[in-house]
Amino acid sequence: MKTVYRNFILLDGKEDMTPVKNKVLVVEDDKILAITDRWDIDENTRILDLGGRYLMPGLINLHVHLPAGGKPSTTGGNTKALVKLVTSSAVTRKIGVEMCKGYAMQELLSGVTTLRTVGGVADFDSILRDMINSGKTDGPRILASNNAIGPHDGHMVGSVAVEANTEDECREEVRKLSEQKVDLIKIMITGGVLDATVKGEPGVLKMAPELVRVCCDEAHKLGFKVAAHVESAEGLRVAAENGVDTVEHGAPMDEHTAQCLKTHGSAYICTVSPALPLAKFSREQTQISEMVQYNSNVVFEGIIEGTKNALEHGIPVGLGTDTGCPFVTHYNMWRELVYFQKFVGASPEFALYTATLGNAKIAGIDSITGSIEVGKSADILITDENPLENFETMKNPYCVIMKGKRFMEPKIKKNKLGEDLLDKAMP
Ligand SMILES: [Zn+2]
Repeated sequence: MKTVYRNFILLDGKEDMTPVKNKVLVVEDDKILAITDRWDIDENTRILDLGGRYLMPGLINLHVHLPAGGKPSTTGGNTKALVKLVTSSAVTRKIGVEMCKGYAMQELLSGVTTLRTVGGVADFDSILRDMINSGKTDGPRILASNNAIGPHDGHMVGSVAVEANTEDECREEVRKLSEQKVDLIKIMITGGVLDATVKGEPGVLKMAPELVRVCCDEAHKLGFKVAAHVESAEGLRVAAENGVDTVEHGAPMDEHTAQCLKTHGSAYICTVSPALPLAKFSREQTQISEMVQYNSNVVFEGIIEGTKNALEHGIPVGLGTDTGCPFVTHYNMWRELVYFQKFVGASPEFALYTATLGNAKIAGIDSITGSIEVGKSADILITDENPLENFETMKNPYCVIMKGKRFMEPKIKKNKLGEDLLDKAMP
């Protein structure tokens, strides 16, 4: 069965994209068969008139934690106890996977056709990935990390990260993940904003440089790339010097760090979404201390500065939302494009490229998805208005197509309080 889409304006996702009119897009099963001027219709073809709407590649979210929904609150209860509970039996594990499935579906229905997880509970991410790939359930393409790895007092250790304190333990945890057939390895090099104890010092180095090196070497030996949580210049330097492939969040970088990243071919993943609420919302809303808000501003400014540094040095920059953090829901990838444009100074074209083909290149899947090109997976987002004029049109997609399957005018139940706060803080 073929579907011919006509009467749309094409944004192909490439770096030099310009809106193109008067094309027809032919999808056969799950693939893009043709992008052409005219197509002869036969009885096995269905035609869809898109009424002059905008057609682009589905978005790619490079930084997702599937087990949490991003409630508008920093007082989320005892996550370690919750993780213990949800992994305690076959029944609770099944519930845990179902919860991840619901959040992954929110990503898809908001236009994200591929997501990369970077720290989850047990092997839920890869279980869900396999359920989706085998056609048992709908969902986006998932690149799964499963649980992250961190030291004893490391970021999120006990919830979305497991503990490893010696070289042998690091190798062992990487091998376990390899046996679960993950797609990448995530490590926690520094602390985060909510676990910092000193004003002005978020992102304290927690993982010893030699352990970072061991994790990277073992992962690379087994064929995996390594993503690392870093929220300080020191953490970024340790990541860069020891072979990390994608630095997540980031911080301002000096010349030495930039050169290490370049030499290794590493990418920098900008995530403004988790930093903005804690830095900019009122403390009545966020319920955080003055110190945490101060540190959040350090991280917020640092992520933006570091992203600019990366771009200046020609280091590939990707985008992710850090979904699951307070106020970061699974349906707001479009906001990250706005932040990239308004805070970092990217053109709208470059922002859309970065969230599609650019992210696909960083994830190593650009031969499969990320742009509207013949032979690629039919992973498509269709919006009413021109996103290059205002990304907000992505908030309510007209249609999302995942491997050829259409979801028309998808509806997501959104948290009104969270949305109102984010709307008010929109740059
Ligand atoms: Zn994260």
